[in-house]
Amino acid sequence: MSGSTRIHIEPMAEWLSLQDGQLIIAGPCSVESRDQLTATARGLASTGKVSVLRAGVWKPRSRPGQFAGCGAKALSWLNDIREETGIPLAVEVARPDHAELCLKHQIDMVWLGARTTVNPFMVQEIANTIRGSGLPVMIKNPVSPDLPLWIGAIERMFLAGTQKLIAIHRGFQTHDKIRYRNVPLWEIPLALKKEMPDLPVICDPSHIAGHKSWLLEVSLKAISMQMNGLMIEVHHQPEKALTDPFQQITPEKFDQIIKQLAPLKNHSNATKILKALREQIDEHDHQVLNMLAKRLSLSEEIGKLKKEHGQGVVQPSRQKDLFEDRQKIGEALGLRPGFVETLLRLLHDESVAVQCKTQKMK
Ligand code: PEP
Ligand code: MN
Repeated sequence: MSGSTRIHIEPMAEWLSLQDGQLIIAGPCSVESRDQLTATARGLASTGKVSVLRAGVWKPRSRPGQFAGCGAKALSWLNDIREETGIPLAVEVARPDHAELCLKHQIDMVWLGARTTVNPFMVQEIANTIRGSGLPVMIKNPVSPDLPLWIGAIERMFLAGTQKLIAIHRGFQTHDKIRYRNVPLWEIPLALKKEMPDLPVICDPSHIAGHKSWLLEVSLKAISMQMNGLMIEVHHQPEKALTDPFQQITPEKFDQIIKQLAPLKNHSNATKILKALREQIDEHDHQVLNMLAKRLSLSEEIGKLKKEHGQGVVQPSRQKDLFEDRQKIGEALGLRPGFVETLLRLLHDESVAVQCKTQKMK
């Protein structure tokens, strides 16, 4: 199809209960067992902040032999937990038979993963399977930053009669060294919003961040970028998760993150967003200064020891090793080498100054 299909979307507020206007989806990357699902879902239900429970049942794994999900039996566990919590369910479908099973088990919503959106044949087959069912569909962006491919998958679903559609921005694969697992390239979801103004676009900060440490900052950014909600991976024991253990968070942590986003909801203005980000900067700066004070007090100790043992203050081989090690860490963290270099020189100079003072040298 050339040009854009005019698509008609049913506003999500009409068929989903939202949290302050935002669609908040949370749940485990994968269902691993009935117990793990139950513990996680109960934890989430008790926060009262979840609109939809997500769960991977068939997992697209890069290598054979990795845990690939529990398959169809997890669908009946999901039904039981919906019965208990009343929270609607969303499951990833990657093939027509997955979609058929979700329809059979009355799963409330399905989503296409990034590795499925890349394949128009598969998208079309899934669209054909759900044609006429009214099953709501969410579509993650394809792995590569290809907006027409993303739009194409949305159009295929719409042309198969689906009007309950939502896009999910989960970032894009890159070979560049970045802090995150996937590069957000916010201009792409924003371009999608421009192309399809009625289409809700939510963000999956878990797969962008790839690590729980960056989840809050990506979530804040997503809200500031006018995303219409979040999909967050939550596990009752993230460190034991069989898939994506680094990026999953506990229900308690989820609760905290959503609380921190609260002032930003309803597409709030830039001032509030700026304030929240600045509060985070303040917190980080306080930690950095504390660490620096601790580091310099160690330099003082070292200065005293060196004096007692008649050693000079500067030891070039130690300095060389230290610089190399910190540069490696800095690189892995995505810090600019020039910045790390300047910081290390400053730290080194201050450390030498402290040691000289301790040894009463000028
Ligand atoms: C997932 O949501 O667990 C998943 C596999 O994500 P993605 O398709 O974004 O890689
Ligand atoms: Mn995952």
